[in-house]
Amino acid sequence: MSEIIPTITQLSYLIAASFFIMGLRYLTSPLTARKGNILASTGMFIAIVVTLLDFSVLNYQMILLAIVIGSLIGGVLARSIKMTAMPQMVGLLNGFGGGAAALIAVGEFQRLSTEEIILTDSFVAIFPGIFIGCVTLTGSLVAFGKLQGIIKGRPITFPLQHYINFFLLFTFIGASIFFVIASPDPSFVLVLVGVSLILGVLIVFPIGGADMPVVIAMLNSLSGLAASTAGFVLGNNILVIAGALVGASGMILTNVMCKAMNRSPTKVLFGSFGAKKEITKAVKGDKNVRSIDVEEAAMILGYAKSVIVIPGFGMAAAQAQHAVSELAEHLEKRGVNIKYAIHPVAGRMPGHMNVLLAEANVPFTQLNDIDDINPEFKRTDVALVIGANDVVNPAARHNKSSPIYGMPILDADKAHHVIIIKRGMKPGFAGIDNELFYNKKTMMLFGDARDTVSKLIEEIGHI
Ligand code: NAP
Repeated sequence: MSEIIPTITQLSYLIAASFFIMGLRYLTSPLTARKGNILASTGMFIAIVVTLLDFSVLNYQMILLAIVIGSLIGGVLARSIKMTAMPQMVGLLNGFGGGAAALIAVGEFQRLSTEEIILTDSFVAIFPGIFIGCVTLTGSLVAFGKLQGIIKGRPITFPLQHYINFFLLFTFIGASIFFVIASPDPSFVLVLVGVSLILGVLIVFPIGGADMPVVIAMLNSLSGLAASTAGFVLGNNILVIAGALVGASGMILTNVMCKAMNRSPTKVLFGSFGAKKEITKAVKGDKNVRSIDVEEAAMILGYAKSVIVIPGFGMAAAQAQHAVSELAEHLEKRGVNIKYAIHPVAGRMPGHMNVLLAEANVPFTQLNDIDDINPEFKRTDVALVIGANDVVNPAARHNKSSPIYGMPILDADKAHHVIIIKRGMKPGFAGIDNELFYNKKTMMLFGDARDTVSKLIEEIGHI
């Protein structure tokens, strides 16, 4: 019986891995995402149960205690965290994942003798485990601090920063080689841990708040790689596979976000975006905007044939998604054709708008991505921009000095009329003025997104 157990364990891991992969496949569409989540969670459940049944587990009490404490903290956070604070929450969790992987590597370092580490080739996984895990831990904590406003969001630069980072990287490599050659005392591991922890802080400090969500995606990918190396250290195949899947998806997400923000991953890491005076302030009073009231806006919307709704961060901040969905229903009853245009980086995290609109029961079939919806604007009566700003700024098309130059935008300015709901003239995330506000077709409807949309619903009921 005892010989067959490892085979059953490996078979179960294979089944769990297939569940993960099918889960990811289903997560690619909102229609099947729920099924994908259930499949992936089932895979994780199988993986955990099989691992716990393994004979090499020595202390079930400690594991149970960790599960109870972890589930309690996780449950409270999941219930209390606001949607707008999700990026820093994800950042924090990535950091803990990296920290856990680093602890596993350090634990093995202490458990095995120097000779064992060298003879079994474990060092091939242990050193990267410590490095990636520690860099992910402190890097994610700094990213969390910046997004939460605990640390200044502006890039914090210092002289010779790149040279110092390379020096630390080579110190880590040198110290690892020294370990393998000279077999020093196991406490030497602290040098490796210390150097990697400092490097994590120094890499993320110079990156500005504007690039932080991309950094979070990168760190997410790193935490996957850290978990994968922990899998090699422990000889656990499912950890290797799960880590690799997280690593690869994080990498793909990083690329998608970089493309949507017109930044390259190297620019994000080494560019110190926002360090100089690149970000222009909102342009003052020499240009006029046309402001309208709710009654006027209700008339335009109520008599339109087609409306494209463009949601942005302001809709999330105001929690206006339910009101927006209700407004769309009222307009549809009047025969207006409604579509939503979703920009890949609208809001503050990938999929932000999709999640909020799904929560408000907006049919998936009405959600359109940038490539599908852009050709439709010129045939549309009204582009209704709700709390979005940078993602509709035409400067991205032609103003080479703009920090968002080259970023793909939603062509709201090509619609016959544009109504923009926001509280005032404040800029968006990129900190720049928006040409669309001064366009002759544009009407500004000033107010909080939720209040204003609710008033619009009332007004439309009267016409
Ligand atoms: P945005 O450019 O940040 O603009 C949001 C606008 O919402 C602001 O101008 C603000 O103007 C308005 N607003 C805030 N609270 C409001 C409220 N309660 N009611 C009504 N309006 C409100 O948003 P976006 O167009 O969605 O663009 C997203 C930005 O985030 C892009 O620059 C993108 O690159 C960046 N970003 C996104 C991600 C991601 O993954 N989604 C990641 C990194 C960076 P007022 O204060 O005047 O109302």
